[in-house]
Amino acid sequence: MAKEVECKSAGIDCPFMLRTENDDELVSFSQQHVKKTHKKDMSRQDILKMAKNV
Ligand SMILES: [Zn+2]
Repeated sequence: MAKEVECKSAGIDCPFMLRTENDDELVSFSQQHVKKTHKKDMSRQDILKMAKNV
């Protein structure tokens, strides 16, 4: 099953959306985006928590 992460679901006004079946990829791409674009650090747990199963 694939997972999807959106900045919007974290309450951030940003069009970023990522969908993948690989948790490691999901976490690492999201962390990079959030760090680069929003200057925030998110833990693996935070990202998996905000991910939706799609
Ligand atoms: Zn974003």
